[in-house]
Amino acid sequence: MADLNSAQQQAAEAGSGPQLILAGAGTGKTRTIVHRIGHLIAERGIAPHRILAVTFTNKAAAELQARLGLLIGDDGGGVVSGTFHSISLKFLRRYADVLGYSRSFQVVDSDDQKALVKRLLKNRNIATDRLHPSYMISWIEHCKHAGLTPEQAPEGEWNGIALHELYALYQRELMQHERMDFSDLILNAARLMREHEAVAAALRARFDHVLVDEYQDTNPIQHEWLLLLCGEHRNLTVVGDDDQSIYGWRGADVSHILDFEQAWQGAGIHRLEENYRSSGAILELANAVICENEGRHEKALKATREDGDKPEWKVCNDEYDEARQVLGRIERWRSGGYAWSEIAVLYRSNRQSLPLEQLFRESDIPYRIIGGVGFFERMEIKDALAYWALLNRCGDGLQLLRICNKPKRGLGVKGQEQLAAALASSGLRTCEWLDLIASGQAEGAAKKVTPLACLIRDMQAELETQPDRGLNMILESSGYLQSLTSMGEIESASRIENIRTLQDYIELSMAQGLTPVEFMDRASLLQSSEEMNESEQDSEDAISMMSLHRAKGLEFDCVVLPGVEEGLLPHQRALDEGEAGISEERRLLYVGVTRAREQLLLTSARLRRFFGEMHYPLPSRFIKTLASEVLQQDTFVPAASHEQSAGGGLGIGVQVCHPSFGEGMIMGMEGAGDATRVTVQFRRSGTKQLMLKYAALQLA
Ligand code: ATP
Ligand code: MG
Repeated sequence: MADLNSAQQQAAEAGSGPQLILAGAGTGKTRTIVHRIGHLIAERGIAPHRILAVTFTNKAAAELQARLGLLIGDDGGGVVSGTFHSISLKFLRRYADVLGYSRSFQVVDSDDQKALVKRLLKNRNIATDRLHPSYMISWIEHCKHAGLTPEQAPEGEWNGIALHELYALYQRELMQHERMDFSDLILNAARLMREHEAVAAALRARFDHVLVDEYQDTNPIQHEWLLLLCGEHRNLTVVGDDDQSIYGWRGADVSHILDFEQAWQGAGIHRLEENYRSSGAILELANAVICENEGRHEKALKATREDGDKPEWKVCNDEYDEARQVLGRIERWRSGGYAWSEIAVLYRSNRQSLPLEQLFRESDIPYRIIGGVGFFERMEIKDALAYWALLNRCGDGLQLLRICNKPKRGLGVKGQEQLAAALASSGLRTCEWLDLIASGQAEGAAKKVTPLACLIRDMQAELETQPDRGLNMILESSGYLQSLTSMGEIESASRIENIRTLQDYIELSMAQGLTPVEFMDRASLLQSSEEMNESEQDSEDAISMMSLHRAKGLEFDCVVLPGVEEGLLPHQRALDEGEAGISEERRLLYVGVTRAREQLLLTSARLRRFFGEMHYPLPSRFIKTLASEVLQQDTFVPAASHEQSAGGGLGIGVQVCHPSFGEGMIMGMEGAGDATRVTVQFRRSGTKQLMLKYAALQLA
């Protein structure tokens, strides 16, 4: 334990019973968790498989396993780790029948969930302008985050519509399709323990110690889940930072961490103060940002590293100018010796990545987007998975509906509804119903899927022994691949390539011994391509780009936070919400700032286009008033560009074009008249000093 300080060591070696580690960013909370697990195994003789570590993302779980491996060797591999969702799924695979589900239920993705709600509303003649499907979904999720089943949900009324009744219908529909949505996983796992004593006893006996990272972002149902699971042995260790609570919009409740001592009597409390991640200058900014929030546990971060370079704030003309400034700074960092993979751009909203992506691509800068439209969210991947699941007898009605008219089989909206109705009234599981159709017993709209049902039946016989080979064959013989080519060459090529990647992945997973049902689980938990090519991604030297929410727990040498302005950070939605929303946005900025080890650049734009409209945002309230001691503001202010205009409209910040250097922007001007010298930063040729008189600059 030599590489822990004494406070960390005390926490890592604390005795049994509830333990809370409440500490600021970068103080080694996650590291302490890893060491505590190591301590439990090595010193206290706890078997690795009887330890459960709960993390916030799949990536964090993988990271934890890797760090454990380094610390204690192969024994670390036995520790059970995962997110609340993935662990709940494991519980449910074992016991879902107790709740009346089939154990081979599937997890519905957000597209299918939306389609289901739309159908439900349509069947009841509720127009979307009276009740929007997204509103319905978020109302239901809200209930589920609070741990409320349809029977327990409050009476919700919206434009004369009883929401709790729709919730009950939605739940029934999901059950009919043998589906759970994402929030169901946790709620239903909690219900297993809440309502079924024997199951609860079995699950409780499964683990001796439970540890939770990023505890500040747990919501009430996750809180109850932990109470139910650890209520008996009480060996629960949680770590978190109330200043980094950023999931309030998803029902997270920071009071769980602040009231931990009340919920878990006799809990040991540990505080860590030294920050090992960031330079002194970056910490100073972090402290200055967060200290404005009210009602927080006062805790200043103490630096253990040198002061380093002061964080900078640059005001840009618009989002494209912002992208260029960011690129310019990144190139400077590069020439200072930083690797691409040590640079991250963290934004508030996914749409902010676009101008950056364009410029990075033009300039051949390696980057990867984490999150965003993930691999498993792509249309062709969902279609292919639906085909494969049906072929492997673990597909459900929603998947059949998804592909019943892909390629076209003459089933319009009406036909699809009839198909859904026929399936539902049969009372059969989807694969059984397809068997029936294949044996020639179809009526009405269902007749249209007879050839598909026959194809599936014939192929199933062939594939019994090698399910991995099925994907390509079914997509080929069903005409699906052919139908993709109608989208045009380039687009279909990239889609087919994705399907090939999926094929490889299925083969790999089957080789690891996964059953088709288990593979579908894995696919539904991988909301993004993160884990898919994780090893590849990690070894690849590229800039990381992701949302601030995704960046939790991570660290990079150099960080750019673009769009630090009113409307983005704080986000417009939060501005409409009032004080609580704004505090959460401030914490989000704090999370962003504290990801950086050495270099930090904040940018804002004076003009930003959004859905074709022009916005002229003000600088974010979070940084506007900060003293220049903590945040160095670029002198590049709009007023100067007018004053210094040397005629011809040329001035600082103006975009120009040069006959040989190409496009660029004026960064500085000195002298007057014929002696005026300009500094221009060219997109391709770097920064040049030119005599204005000879430079033949034109306005771009
Ligand atoms: P966050 O709040 O962002 O999740 P954290 O509190 O979990 O941060 P860690 O990620 O565990 O912090 O640690 C931050 C960095 O400091 C890591 O690079 C870690 O290896 C390093 N670190 C932590 N404790 C020590 C220590 N005692 N000595 C040296 N380095 C340390
Ligand atoms: Mg951490």
